Amino acid sequence: MDDELLKRIRRFQTDFFPQYQDHFKHLVEQGQHPTILFVGCSDSRLVPYMLTGTGPGELFIVRNVGALVPPYNGSGGGLHGTAAAIEYAVLNLHVSHIIVCGHSHCGAMKALYEEVSPEAKNLDAWLDLAREATLPVQVTPEALRRTEQRAVVLQLERLMDYPMVRKRVEQRQISLHGWHYVIEEGEVHVFDVKSGAFVPASQADHSGTGPYQEIDPDSGSIFNELDASWYPRR
Ligand SMILES: [Zn+2]
Repeated sequence: MDDELLKRIRRFQTDFFPQYQDHFKHLVEQGQHPTILFVGCSDSRLVPYMLTGTGPGELFIVRNVGALVPPYNGSGGGLHGTAAAIEYAVLNLHVSHIIVCGHSHCGAMKALYEEVSPEAKNLDAWLDLAREATLPVQVTPEALRRTEQRAVVLQLERLMDYPMVRKRVEQRQISLHGWHYVIEEGEVHVFDVKSGAFVPASQADHSGTGPYQEIDPDSGSIFNELDASWYPRR
């Protein structure tokens, strides 16, 4: 049997790992100290490490269908992976940035305008978290793009209902970033609170302000010092 996956995981250990062994060893000995919580859609075309030029130890990632943030539940009811990840990233890892990253051609956003399979009960309920972002218009590529962007802002707002997030945003310890990644252009559009619009990164003067505050320009580098250079940086 030709087990391609087995081949690939063996190749990782023999071909890739040795180059970065020291770095991984360091991350094990010192523990992880990522400064960024990345909430992204599960879509296979969204590759957070490539987008942000980061490597091991730099992003704490939670991905789900649509890059959605469930409502804060103070009593802890339900089994909520995304909510647990947010609490852990903020309270234990002390991240200073939270990115919510949606994208173009998002199947989840398109599904908001379609019938969901009656078998997909969890998916149907989950999509309710973006329902408010839909527009009462004909479904066009433009309407879908606006829905994708509106959904990102909706999730940023819901993040602010998490008391540990709100507190740190108000104290300027956490910055929120709303991103919409346009797959076919390779460009992230960042949410700008002043204009209430998503601005292409090539024209933006910041990486996102979130709905509530501007990024502190004096906060310095948000990336860890890396021995290895994972992606070319300028
Ligand atoms: Zn998606």
